[in-house]
Amino acid sequence: MSKYRHILIDLDRTLWDFERNSRQTMTEMFSEYGLQQLCHADFQTFFDAYHVINTGLWKAYNNGTLTKEYLYVARFSLTLEHFGVENTYALGKKLGDYYVFESPKKTALIDGADELLRYLKSKDYSLSIVSNGFKEVQFEKMRTSGIDVFFDHVFLSEDIGYQKPDRRIFDHILGALSAQPARCLMIGDDMNVDIAGARNAGIDQIFCNFTDAKPDFTPTHTVFHLHDIMSLL
Ligand SMILES: [Mg+2]
Repeated sequence: MSKYRHILIDLDRTLWDFERNSRQTMTEMFSEYGLQQLCHADFQTFFDAYHVINTGLWKAYNNGTLTKEYLYVARFSLTLEHFGVENTYALGKKLGDYYVFESPKKTALIDGADELLRYLKSKDYSLSIVSNGFKEVQFEKMRTSGIDVFFDHVFLSEDIGYQKPDRRIFDHILGALSAQPARCLMIGDDMNVDIAGARNAGIDQIFCNFTDAKPDFTPTHTVFHLHDIMSLL
């Protein structure tokens, strides 16, 4: 019998295959909006530039230096600018809306996600999503990919007012679950966000090392595939 009762799980890139779903959405957008002609670039070049710009904006968003509304538009308007397009706000807004509308409809999950959730549910753990992602898309992603049924709670930073790794989001969750930290376990793909945050709150962690990261500290457990979690729980 495991000492844990509550399993806290990150959504993006831990269960929901963010990269695959994002790439699919962008591929469709690229052709629908004629971006190849407009940017004089092929899809991969456009996508690589977007990826760099988006990552930078997300860092700033996580530090609280820009708003979500700005990020939605800027990740596309700045990418268009990068390719020499002028007056990018209106199209940036359109692409931003398209992306936010279409991407959560995509259903690719990280390999083993469905099997893991079935397993954890069969073992009677209480399962909670803990995500910094945007409220208007996270529920839809879970619904369309069919994993919403496994979760007892969904904790979103937007609702709670603190983002991982801030320990106050974890303290809030412990309160909401009436749980001791020692009875909880956090599963996530991001050392700086999921794993450091849980550790600061005294919660054990399973780091899903899907990108061969070299962590600064040693998590409670490290796995390289979601399947490996089942033998731990
Ligand atoms: Mg993640």
